[in-house]
Amino acid sequence: MKFYSTNKKAPVADLHKAVVKGLAEDKGLYMPEVIKALPQEFFDNIENMTFQEIAYTVADAFFGEDVPADTLKQIVYDTLAFDCPVVKVTDNIYSLELFHGPTLAFKDVGARFMARLLGYFIKQEGNEQVNVLVATSGDTGSAVANGFLGVEGIHVYVLYPKGKVSPIQECQFTTLGQNITAIEVDGVFDDCQALVKSAFMDEELNRHMKLTSANSINVARFLPQAFYYFYAYAQMKKKGLADRLVVCVPSGNFGNITSGLFGKKMGLPVKRFIAANNANDIFYNYLKTGEYCPRPSVQTIANAMDVGDPSNFARIYDLYQGNHGAVCADVSGAAYTDEQIAETIREVYDETGYLCDPHGACGYRALKEGLHADEVGVFLETAHPAKFRDTVERIIASEVAIPDKLAAFMQGKKDCVEMSKDFADFKDYLMSR
Ligand SMILES: *Cc1c(COP(=O)(O)O)cnc(C)c1O
Repeated sequence: MKFYSTNKKAPVADLHKAVVKGLAEDKGLYMPEVIKALPQEFFDNIENMTFQEIAYTVADAFFGEDVPADTLKQIVYDTLAFDCPVVKVTDNIYSLELFHGPTLAFKDVGARFMARLLGYFIKQEGNEQVNVLVATSGDTGSAVANGFLGVEGIHVYVLYPKGKVSPIQECQFTTLGQNITAIEVDGVFDDCQALVKSAFMDEELNRHMKLTSANSINVARFLPQAFYYFYAYAQMKKKGLADRLVVCVPSGNFGNITSGLFGKKMGLPVKRFIAANNANDIFYNYLKTGEYCPRPSVQTIANAMDVGDPSNFARIYDLYQGNHGAVCADVSGAAYTDEQIAETIREVYDETGYLCDPHGACGYRALKEGLHADEVGVFLETAHPAKFRDTVERIIASEVAIPDKLAAFMQGKKDCVEMSKDFADFKDYLMSR
């Protein structure tokens, strides 16, 4: 499979290059040249297949030409070492729980897949160590660090702003050891990001060590997210509820929903999608007006969706050839204030006993308000509520139980390297490695 850039000014890349580079030379996002439709027999029988079997069929359509079948199968099966169950919340609203992985958020799926695919490419190249640099304000660092933990040939450096990451998030990448180094930067998130960018541009450093990013726009993190849309459909079909299915995705950078739209192009019988935003309603406004007007993000309680210029808008635009009407035919939108998100968490909890996290709450509410009488909705519960414990406990005024997996991180010993925000210091450190 070849991958082209959404900006159309860079040469096409093979999978290996697209994964190692992440971003095309013209700063565009890579898109597969073909999105293969899956055969009708697959959909006829999908409810009898396991998550891994379904995912391998989808993976084969994107990666099968470039990765041997047994290797790809192994990567898919290792990635999905946990379930993504659909759970009933009300008569017509179901939650696709994507928080059963190691860091309790959906980013585990893409991060684990990318780590294993990159590991395969490195082995093929003769085992020269690759170093992944990732700047994080919280969740990305934990998903990437845990996704790459123990993968041979790769060392991960997670840069995070000192004192600006919640203790629960921090322990998910500072306690791991092995091939993961946490770097606590005396600055803010933007300083961490600037250090990573400078490192990628520094010629001397790049001669000294092989550097790559594990950014969420990477095709190896992005495409595997399609797996669980098919699996959700299979679970709903088994319940006899898949005929008029609406899937609602709490969205920030729009990678997650875009992979669902790829699924629809492959033939997944989802009637329509809803993108649920917080106060960062750039995409919602695009749907209403046809104009895409990015603006600086504002902080909300659903902070993983605080994005003012969603990168993957470029992929959606490309997928629908810029046709606003065609986008609107498949996707509608919604946007909620912090007060509405809090109200929703409280109401769902009081009325059904189901506890949403602030992101999933946006998804639930958009279905509650937007479902037609004959439709059934599934929203993506993108993280476990305990990851946002303080916020959620304040809202429901009772304690949120911490899952064992999360508690185990919190008992680990913190280990990190302290760093100033000067690139010269960061470079010295990496040059000495
Ligand atoms: C990253 C994230 C999102 C947003 O996903 P996008 O792919 O960026 O749209 C939503 N919820 C949670 C919990 C996240 O970590």
